[in-house]
Amino acid sequence: MYPAETIPDYSREQFIEDLLREHETEIRRCLKKGAYKVQVDFTEGRLAVKVDPSGHLLNSFIDLINLALTRFSPEERRRIGVHTCPGNDLHSTHSADVDYAELLPSLFELKAGNFYIALAGEPDRRRVLQIIRKHMRPDQRIFVGVIAPINPHIETLEEVRDRVLEASEYIPIEQLGTTDDCGFSPFFDNTSLSRDTTFAKIQARVLGTKLAEKRNRGH
Ligand SMILES: [Zn+2]
Repeated sequence: MYPAETIPDYSREQFIEDLLREHETEIRRCLKKGAYKVQVDFTEGRLAVKVDPSGHLLNSFIDLINLALTRFSPEERRRIGVHTCPGNDLHSTHSADVDYAELLPSLFELKAGNFYIALAGEPDRRRVLQIIRKHMRPDQRIFVGVIAPINPHIETLEEVRDRVLEASEYIPIEQLGTTDDCGFSPFFDNTSLSRDTTFAKIQARVLGTKLAEKRNRGH
């Protein structure tokens, strides 16, 4: 965001320092208020691969986010997560055509304890799960998307259960969690899904995940 030509009396270094400090402050305030987990939105990750297929832009984002994350202790980082999705606004995406294989290996270099990965809307979930399995690290927890906010269909509990069980074939259960693919109104102006539908979808996630848990204990 800093322009190529420098701003008088405000260097790029100073800008980066201010950016990191504000980002750190925002996360710390959430942690202090008792947030169970703090998610950092990184929808720009997949988009960065589209804008710059060389991967340079993505890697500079990864470096920048890691500069912020290393200001936190390992215990704090266990409560910090990163969200990735292909965009989700008014039933449209911005980077669904970018292969997760181009993003995920770099994403898992982030020094965060949790990853919230949009998966419900992917055409080939098993392929993505294989990539996750290959690149995730032992101290990282993976929350897979089981609800697609972009789709008005309310997922059934059985659909959610099956998605969780599918993911558990690739991700150890101790490291597996579920999430929605994205927020339901990421820019606050999305009324394409009603409030009732939204809550029904969230409820399906919670109850469907419980169903999977039961099935898993049964074995
Ligand atoms: Zn998102």
